[in-house]
Order: sequence, then structure tokens, then C-alpha cells
Amino acid sequence: MTKWVYNFGGGEADGRSDMRDLLGGKGANLAEMSTLGLPVPPGFTISTAVCTHFYDNGRRYPDDLNAAVDEAIARIEKRLGMGFGDAHNPLLVSVRSGARASMPGMMDTVLNLGLNDETAEGLAKKTGDRRFALDSYRRFIQMYSGVVLGVDHYLFEDVLDSTKRANGFTLDTDLTAADWEEVIEGYKRVVADETPDGFPQDAREQLWGAVGAVFGSWQNQRAITYRRLHNIPDAWGTAVTVQAMVFGNMGNDCATGVAFTRDPSTGENVFYGEYLINAQGEDVVAGIRTPQSLTRAARENAGSRLPSMEEEMPAVFGQLVDIRDRLEAHYKDMQDIEFTIQQGDLFILQTRNGKRTAPAALKIAVDLCHDGVIDESEAVRRVEPASLDQLLHPRLDPDAERNVIAKGLPASPGAAAGIIVLNADDAEARAGRGETVILVREETSPEDIHGMHAAAGIVTTRGGMTSHAAVVARGMGRPCVSGVGGIRIDEQAGKVIVAGHTLAAGDRLTIDGGTGEVMLGDVGTIQPTLSGDFATLMAWADKHRRMRVRANAETPADARTALSFGAEGIGLCRTEHMFFDQERITEVRRMILSTTETARRAALDRLLPMQRSDFVELFTIMRGFPVTIRLLDPPLHEFLPRSDGDFADVAEAAGVDVPTVRHRALQLHESNPMLGHRGCRLGITYPEIYEMQVRAILEAAVEVARESGDTVIPEIMIPLAFSREELDILKTMIDRVATEVGAGEKLTYLVGTMIELPRAALCADKLAQSAEFFSFGTNDLTQTTLGISRDDATNFMGAYVDQGILDRDPFTTLDQEGVGQLVRLGVERGRETRPDIKLGICGEHGGDPDSISFCESVGLDYVSCSPFRVPIARLAAAQASLKSDPPGHRTG
Ligand code: ADP
Ligand code: MG
Ligand code: MG
Repeated sequence: MTKWVYNFGGGEADGRSDMRDLLGGKGANLAEMSTLGLPVPPGFTISTAVCTHFYDNGRRYPDDLNAAVDEAIARIEKRLGMGFGDAHNPLLVSVRSGARASMPGMMDTVLNLGLNDETAEGLAKKTGDRRFALDSYRRFIQMYSGVVLGVDHYLFEDVLDSTKRANGFTLDTDLTAADWEEVIEGYKRVVADETPDGFPQDAREQLWGAVGAVFGSWQNQRAITYRRLHNIPDAWGTAVTVQAMVFGNMGNDCATGVAFTRDPSTGENVFYGEYLINAQGEDVVAGIRTPQSLTRAARENAGSRLPSMEEEMPAVFGQLVDIRDRLEAHYKDMQDIEFTIQQGDLFILQTRNGKRTAPAALKIAVDLCHDGVIDESEAVRRVEPASLDQLLHPRLDPDAERNVIAKGLPASPGAAAGIIVLNADDAEARAGRGETVILVREETSPEDIHGMHAAAGIVTTRGGMTSHAAVVARGMGRPCVSGVGGIRIDEQAGKVIVAGHTLAAGDRLTIDGGTGEVMLGDVGTIQPTLSGDFATLMAWADKHRRMRVRANAETPADARTALSFGAEGIGLCRTEHMFFDQERITEVRRMILSTTETARRAALDRLLPMQRSDFVELFTIMRGFPVTIRLLDPPLHEFLPRSDGDFADVAEAAGVDVPTVRHRALQLHESNPMLGHRGCRLGITYPEIYEMQVRAILEAAVEVARESGDTVIPEIMIPLAFSREELDILKTMIDRVATEVGAGEKLTYLVGTMIELPRAALCADKLAQSAEFFSFGTNDLTQTTLGISRDDATNFMGAYVDQGILDRDPFTTLDQEGVGQLVRLGVERGRETRPDIKLGICGEHGGDPDSISFCESVGLDYVSCSPFRVPIARLAAAQASLKSDPPGHRTG
């Protein structure tokens, strides 16, 4: 027989904290705390297996559940000497939901269940406090009717408000027993009007109603959306915990509150939290009254006159501090604790690992390790790699002067300073001219994406934290302040009116997406650095990491940033980016538009020294580390002139007429450039282009090696190959150039290829006969495997993820099921031919923690990602290495 129900209470429990899959986080920790002997009101948890059964069997419970629940109720009754539904001595319970992963607000808890007209009177008599009994009853009717019967919350508010108004009351605490009696009658009338059967008086009917509502809530829209956003599988299900009530609303020696064992925003080791006297459950978060601080220090800091718990209830406070220490020592992590005090007695109702900011996560992990509570590898496991993103954006210099002219919502973190532009096209145009722009719009729409991309920061005057601007900005990593009501835009006049200033497009602004501040002029920013706890944790991560982490970088600035964040080389240097420079693009265009090889070579000769100096700089910065340089990859038309002015420039520079240039451009037009004349196909058909690049790379390498005496490790990478033959042709050319420049004797260079076409992965054993390294180009490999162009996916990718066709956007997180097979195959076949072949990844996925974990599992040697993601990749790679070790302590 399956065990569906797990009891806890009185110093014992059927469950343990490592049973969260079955009992949910809340149920598992209540069981554990009960066994630890902490004051936990007794109760039981109906397991997640019942939820699974419920959905697998047309919303029906297992046959033997009823009996198991009866038995569990009887146990509580016996322990407390009360009866569920007993008119004289009623046992009241709460019904609480709890999934494996915390899903805050998924379903509201029902408190005071078991009350009806009779038991309410019984409770009044037994406690001698009629007002309390009726206060509890009205709370129950409202909660139950809202959560279980679906009656609108405002109907109850109306009843309460009119009673308050009639009596001239402002606070709930002003109401007397007689007033509550009147409110309760009003509430029952509301339920009778709104539901077929009215408010249920039978305690067991109430109980099963609430249990059914919790299981039903697993498939409500709120829960489904939450799961999708947090990648929680639908199959997990929720547990239901039924627990004897304790009352924080029985008078002034009662209270309810929430505590963190450390400060969740800074991570500082100080007790932190809030409580409310004479209150129940949600009152603290509901904001009906101002909660009071737990500690005296916090109260003084906040400048509050309301006494702290430390001052008001010193004895209970002492017990709570004691429990804080015990829970932290037991769970070995910062805890978020919910408690209630009933007539001076303290009860703990929940504990879990507390949510925290990234700086707090780092500090807590490092502090716990220094205190010997956890070891270094556990500290490394504790920090969410993606959360480091918060720390890797430029910040405003705290010492700089600032003139804040408006405030909005902190929609996407980071700071930016630039000139005001009022539309997306201007943003793109001015950014193209090298200006830093802040896009200021009422609200953004999908047509603005190119402008948002070009902007350093975004401001909107309307819209909230989930507006288009906010969501897209966070996705792009652009700082954004949304909903700045204080700004008015006059687009026609090209003006922005704010706090008495009239600003024009072109004027300078600074924004802080972390605080929502908009500032006049430039406020100095500082680049993020690895220091303090961050640096300490990264050093620990490096000790546990097998894979190397490199960066995708082509400019000296990016290469330096990458180094400062701990990159161990460059995994992808895209040479085409070096061609877009003002003075070079003309030469590039002349080269492309030449119809003869001689003319092409002449243009290439002028490009050679420019490319060489680029590489000299990169090799100098990355001394001792490998630098992978990809030969020209994009279709040539990307370099072609677009405007008439450009055509004229090129014609003049090339000494031909405009129609000739236009004709040649037309010849180069392709109907599907992504699959067209690009990658090594360029090198095969225009060998002189690749030859110039190879010469530039090797001459630069020889020069830096000679002048600095350092090791220079160039890795020449051939893009978009699908056959050994392509590689052989190009490798012969590369080796010839190497001999010509004398590279052979002076340094080791490698020649390898990207694996970014399915055929390349399938034929990896053959490619490896020629290639000395593979770099998985998973952006193109994803495009070519799924047959989806990344740039055109935005129109349908959302729907694909929403409908569960794909779990995630495959351009963000590697599609392990499909593309992953090709990567695995490429690795295996490559190693078959060449056991010591160097293997890496250089797609966008190289900076995504889940994809990094996959890279570890297939045994890649390194991942390469954008410079600002290097710390994230270092941590994710360490966690991936540690995954094979026994798991650390995970609770909460
Ligand atoms: P959530 O998952 O939203 O935190 P909980 O199940 O923890 O919901 O319930 C919310 C609050 O209700 C608790 O913090 C506590 O104050 C109150 N509560 C829950 N169960 C009980 C109980 N048995 N006795 C008293 N208060 C309770
Ligand atoms: Mg809770
Ligand atoms: Mg590619």
C-alpha cells in the first residue's frame, strides 16, 4: 500500500528534509523541524504522489486517502485533546500548499478551518474571548470563499468597509465582537448570493474543499505561468499540509512575523525581520498595518518609534534568536523563517533557504565557508551563476555628483550615459556613427528592437516592470528605466520635458536601471571588477573547474575586459568585425567589387598591414593564452554599399562608374545568404582573401613572439566547413604561408575548424584527419539543425515555448535533445580519429549555465563566451564539474 499521508508533531515525524520531492519544501522542513524538537504545531502532509494520482485519474483521489486523512486528523486531535468539528473544544487547522520548489503566491493558505456557527461559539466560550473567535471566523469565511469557492474578494471588503463607515472606525482592531457578528452575517449573505450552496458548515466538507483547491491550483494559470518562467516541470505536483492552528491574534501577547537569519540584501550576519502584534498570517505582508522590526538595532536604523520585538517581548525574542542559530547550524544556510506567538509561546511555521541578492549570496557562501560551516566546493555550489549578471554591468561611480531629475521603475540593471534620441531609427543611425545613445520613448514596441539594440540605455514614460521595454531590455542586458511619469515627450518638437527642464534630442542623460534614477548630464560610471567576496568565490570555483573558459573578443578593449574577468584565451575572434572600421570598409568594398584577381590583391595588400596590427595587439594582450581566429565568415553582401552615397564613394575610390558598382552588387545578391556564399566557401573561391588573413595572423604572431619572447598560440579556424576536402585545400595554403613567413620554426600554430553544420558533425572523424581542433559553433548548428533562422525566429519562438513544443529558446539554451546529439557525435567521432583533438564551443551557449553543464558532460576542453559572461561561465563550469560529486546540502 502506498503511504499517502505523513504525520509530524510532538518531536517526531514520518518525513525528513530530504523528502521534498514527496512532501514539498514546506512539508519536508516542517517534518524535519518537528524531529529537531522545535515548537511546530502538529499536522500532516498529503504527498505530491496524491497530486500526480489526482491528475492521472481524472481528478480523483486514491481510494484509501480518505481513511489515511481521518487517521491523521485523529492523531492531532489526540495530541492536542481537541476535536475537529467539536462544538465545545474545536480543533482548527490551516491548509497549506507546498511544491518541491518554492512557488510564492501560487495558492493562498486557508487559515482557521473548522470554524462554523457552532464551533465559533465553542471557541469563544473556551477562550473567554468572543471577539477573537469571531475575528478568526470572519477571516476564515473570507479566505475559504475566496480560495475555494472563488468568490471575489472585494465583495467582502465592501461589507467590512460599510460596517466600519457606519461606526466611524478606521482600523480592524476597532471592531467589537458585536461588530464582527454583523460582518459575519454580511459575509455569509455574500457567499449565499454568489455560490449554489452557500458557506459550508461541515468541517470535513471544508477540509476536502480546501485540499481539492490546493491540488486544483497546480493547474491554474498563475501556477502554469510561474512554472514556465522558472522551468519547473508540470509533473512535480504540489503537496498539501494540514496543520493545527496557533493564534497570533488572541491579544497583545500574541504576534506573527517573518525572519531571515541574515540580511537577505547584503548578506550581513545580522538577524533581520518584521513582526506584527495581535495579527494573523498574511497581515504582515498585506500591508494593512506597519510591521515592526525584530531587533533594536534595526528599529534604530529605521528611525522607527514602534518598539522592536527585542524590546517588547525580550523572553520570546531570546527563544527566537536561539532557534535562528539552531536552524542555520542545521541547514547550513541562511533561513527564511515564519513564526507566530500565541500568548507568549513561540511556534515556528516554516523555514526554507532564504532568497537573496547576488552580493548577499556571495557574502553568505564565503562567510559560511570561513566559519567552517560548509567547505569551498559547497560554497561554489551555493551561488546561482546567472545571478552574477547583476554584478557584471557598469555601475555609477558612487563618488560622482548626480543631478536626479526624474525617477521611474528599475526595469533592467546597469547604468548608462548618452545622448537623448527619440526614435529607434535615430538610435541606430547615431550609434552607427559611434555615439552612445539613450532611447527615450513613451513605450517601446517590437518595431523598436533595432533601436533598443543600438542604445546604451532605454527610458520609457509609461509601462511597468513587465512592459515590452523592460522585458526586452533585460533580455538584451540593456539598462532600462520604465514608467517615468515625470517625463513628457514632444516627439514632433524633438523635445523632452522633465522637472522644469526642456531637453532636446542630443542632450545628455544618465540612467541607473538598478535604482530607476534619471540624471541630467554625465555621471561617471565604473566598470565592474572582481574583488572581495566575488573574487574569493571565483578563485574557489577555479579550483574545482575542469573546463577552461575563454572569451569571444575581437577588440583590444574586449580582450582586456575578458582577461580581467579571468578568461584563459580567446575562443572566437571574428575577423569581419575588424573590416567595418571607416577607413577599412572602403578597401574591403573595393576588394569585393573588383572583377579581377589583380585588383582584388591590390586591395588586399592595403588591408594586410591593418589586419596584422589588429592581431599584434590581440596577441600582445593575450600573451601565453591561445587565440582562436576565425577566417572571414559572413556573406560578402554584408559589406556592400547600401546607400547611393556609398555607391558613389566606392565607385570613385575604385576608379569605376556607379553603374558598374551597382551591377556587381546585384551579382552578389543571394536569395538565402545564410546558406550561401560564405564561410570557407569564400576561401575556396577567393583564396587570396584567406591568404591575406593567414599572412596577417602568422606575421603578427612571429613579430610578437620575437619581440616579447612570450609564447604566442594562434589557432586558425576555418568556418562553415562540411568536408575534409575543404579543410585540406585551405590547410595546404595555410602551411605554405607559414613556411613563407617562417612561422614553422618560431611558434606552434594550430589549424582547425568550426563544427556548425550537421554534415560536419556527422563526418567529424574525417574532418579530424585534417583539423587539429574543433570549435562547436552552436548558433549556426542550431539554425541548420532546426532549420530556423535565428533572426527570423522572434515571430514564432514565443508560441513554440508557450505551447511546450520547445522547453526553451534553443538559441539561448542548447537544445540537448537534438543539437546536443550532433555535438556529442562530433566529439566522439573527432576523438576517434585524433584522441588529443582540442574541443571547445564558441556559440552564444558558451555563456549559458545549463548549456555549460552539457559541455562538461560531453567532455569539451573549454567554453568561450562574451567577456562579461566569463565569471558566470567559470562558476557554471565549476558547478558542472562538481555535479558528479555527492550533492551538497540542499533544502528550503
Ligand atoms: P505561503 O506558502 O504563501 O508562505 P503558508 O502556508 O506559509 O503560505 O501560510 C502563510 C501564513 O499563514 C504563514 O506564514 C503563517 O503566518 C500562517 N499560517 C499557516 N499555517 C498556520 C498555522 N497552523 N497556525 C497559524 N498560522 C498559520
Ligand atoms: Mg509561508
Ligand atoms: Mg557560424
